[in-house]
Amino acid sequence: MRDCIFCRIARHEADARVVYEDDRIIAFHDIAPKAPTHLLVVPKQHIRNLADLHLEDEGLIAHLMLSLSDIAHTAGLDNGFRTITNTGPGGHQEVYHLHFHILGGRRLPAL
Ligand code: C5P
Repeated sequence: MRDCIFCRIARHEADARVVYEDDRIIAFHDIAPKAPTHLLVVPKQHIRNLADLHLEDEGLIAHLMLSLSDIAHTAGLDNGFRTITNTGPGGHQEVYHLHFHILGGRRLPAL
């Protein structure tokens, strides 16, 4: 998607503080952090959200999910972290490119 901000970050056409990248995913600091450490982990392929996943995305999503813990540890979140993905207007999704928030760096309140 040409104008999608996370596609542009994935292509290095827009600035972001990248902490991890491989051929399928990229992770960077959220520009408006809601915790001392707030990262976003994003598939490079444009997928709108969880509701837009298909069976053929299984390998990509498994890779992303299996990478979350290593990305969090590399960012120093050794005491635990929270992972959230917002889906659609009811979930208050603002950027329609699938992403997983990693929040940590302090003891988070109960949900
Ligand atoms: O999950 P949701 O779509 O609501 O959140 C989008 C997140 O993307 C926000 O936390 C926002 O601060 C972040 N963002 C960003 N860099 C951008 C645009 C949005 O980190 N260029």
